[in-house]
This record gives sequence, C-alpha cells and structure tokens, in this order.
Amino acid sequence: MHPARRTITFTESVIREMTRIANQHEAVNLAQGFPDFPMPEPMKDAACAAIHGDINQYAVTWGSSALRIAIAEKYRRWYDMEVDHDREVTVTCGATEAMAAVFLALIDPGDEVIVLEPFYENYGPDAILAGAHPTFVPLERPHWTLDLDRLAKAFTKRTKAIILNTPHNPTGRVFTRAEMTMIAELCIKHDVWAITDEIYEHIRYAGAHHVMATWPEMRKRTITISGLSKTFSCTGWRLGYTVAPEDQTAAIRKVHDFLTVGAPAPLQAAGAVGMRFDADYYNHMALDYRSRRSVLCDALSDAGFTFAQPEGAYYVLADFSGLSDMDDVTFAKWMIEEIGVATVPGSSFYSNKGMGRNLVRFAFCKKYETLKRAAERLSTIRASV
Ligand code: GLN
Repeated sequence: MHPARRTITFTESVIREMTRIANQHEAVNLAQGFPDFPMPEPMKDAACAAIHGDINQYAVTWGSSALRIAIAEKYRRWYDMEVDHDREVTVTCGATEAMAAVFLALIDPGDEVIVLEPFYENYGPDAILAGAHPTFVPLERPHWTLDLDRLAKAFTKRTKAIILNTPHNPTGRVFTRAEMTMIAELCIKHDVWAITDEIYEHIRYAGAHHVMATWPEMRKRTITISGLSKTFSCTGWRLGYTVAPEDQTAAIRKVHDFLTVGAPAPLQAAGAVGMRFDADYYNHMALDYRSRRSVLCDALSDAGFTFAQPEGAYYVLADFSGLSDMDDVTFAKWMIEEIGVATVPGSSFYSNKGMGRNLVRFAFCKKYETLKRAAERLSTIRASV
C-alpha cells in the first residue's frame, strides 16, 4: 500500500527540518521565522481571561464576530478599505490554512497559477494539493527586481491566479506602487485572481505597504490573506484570515469548515484585543525590527556574505559564494554543525533548485542576545571554511 500520489511530489518542510537539526546541535536557530521573545502582555491576559471565562468550545466556523469586526475595522483604519465582516472575512488556522483553503476553493485541477520565485515553500504543495500547475517567474538578482515583461509573458489562457507576497519572504522586497499597478493591469487584462499573502504587512523598513485589493477594479478579483502571527509574535496561536468578495468567501468558508472547523476560540477573543492596538504598537514594532535587522546585516557583511538589505519582513537571503563552494544544503548543514548557526538553504525557495545553490536565508525575529550570539559565531566562518 502506497500513500496517495499527491503526497509523493512534495517533501517535508525544509524550514521545519532545519529547526529540528538546529535543536539537535544546540545551534542558534535563525532558520524558522518565529520570534523567540514574548508576545504582547495584554493579549496573553485576554487569552487567559477567555479560557477562565469558559470560551472553550467551537467559535463560529468562519471566525468569532469580535475578531471579524476587529479585522474589518483594521482595513478601514489602515487602508481606507470597506470590508463586510459578515460576508467577506474568514478566520483560519494561520495564513497557512488560509492559502491552502483559497487554493482548494478557487483553483481547478489543470489551472495555472503564477508564483514569483524565490517563494515561501508552502505555495508549491498548496498548488499540488489543488492539482494546479504553478508557473514560476524569477525575481532578478541582486535587488530581486520583478521583470514585468517576463511576468506578462507568463500569463496564458489557463492562468487562474497570481500569488503575490509583499513584504516578500524570503527576499524582503516590498513591491512598489508601480509594480502593483502593472500586476493589477495584467490581472484585469487576463481575468485572473490576485491571491496576496500580506502576513508581513506591518514589518517594513522603507516605503508603504500596498494592498492590492485597494487598486481600482481589483477589489472584486483579490483574495487578501494575512494573520496575527507575525504582527503580534504569536506564530503558535494559528490565527490567520482571508478577506475576499462574498461569493469567493462562501467557497473559502466551505473548505475551511471541513478542513479545520475553526481557529482556537479563546485565542480569537484575545486576537481581537491585539487588532485594536493603536499606531504606537505598530510603529514601535517596525522600528524594533529595523534595529534587529542592523545587528544581523552588520554581522553578515563582516562575515563575508553579500545580500540586498530587506525592505520588509524579517529575513535576509544571503549569498555565500565569497565564502564557500559548497552547495546550499551542504553549507547550511555545515553551518549548523561547525559554526552553530541554523539557516534555511536557498534551494528550498526555488522550483529551479540551482538558482538557490549559493543562498541561505537568515531570520532576524530574534532577541538581541540571540542575534549577538549568532554574530559571534558567524565571525568565525572565514577561519573555519
Ligand atoms: N513563515 C515562517 C518562515 O518562513 C515560518 C514557516 C513555518 O514553519 N510555517 O520561516
């Protein structure tokens, strides 16, 4: 007896595998993108209060009304976008479930989906689960530029959607207004969905976050995905959501209901508290990540890596070809064992694995002491290779 064919074509998550190997070797884990510092106290208190207040049974499958109202308010406040919390919002178990549910709800087997690469590794298996054919368009080094002519050529009669992740994991690109406009024009011309992953929307160092759904004519063809994990440092709470037009929301909700029933009820209650934090919280968080970025980027430059400074999100995708001829997987394992720092091999972000051969990704959503310990270890690389 064999497992289903659809499971054979994708491997275990490289990101989570690296975390496991890092733990075995007591390496500093700059692989998986989760903070090693606490989340906001008022949200923790609200979660405890919700549990003690007996909010322990299923919430409404598409999300508690308190959280959906808070999500709709956030879009009005931040992006001047009207969202109907009853008809257009679905709370999911993380943005991860949101993306899988959207694929299953909107994409038919054989449909083509455009993905910019490098890309967050889940999009590949999401496409396979839905039977979709991903078409990859590379971001061009050294600054991870989007070649719009190349993107235009990737659209065919079978293209159903484009996945757009901004701020971008793993490169740190924040797509510009001009790029968003060009992508929107292509979506309109070819009658294609924009499925946006905006989980890092509040973690930016330059420029504004642009929300595709606010572009003219794009509201009705955009599925916005985001969540609380990165904004409130609570990746283990598994709170994500989709904002989509009513008909598409109905399809997403059906898939979501049968996949998971719903996200944890007491944590949804506490999530609504976080969503109402004022602008100070968000400004402080972005500034704080900016200084963590400096600590890591300085250490990487000193150690001999080359990279484009991230404009958003909390990763640096760095080239190590000035340091070693090893391939990325060998280099990442060598770094864990010999240097004591865990990263993610670049090839795990590419369909064309060779394009990631000289790259590793570092996450800097870590305590200063963690980053400094990593910096000390990274300073020994040149002497060790
Ligand atoms: N998004 C995070 C990353 O890229 C966490 C991945 C995960 O394990 N879900 O590292």
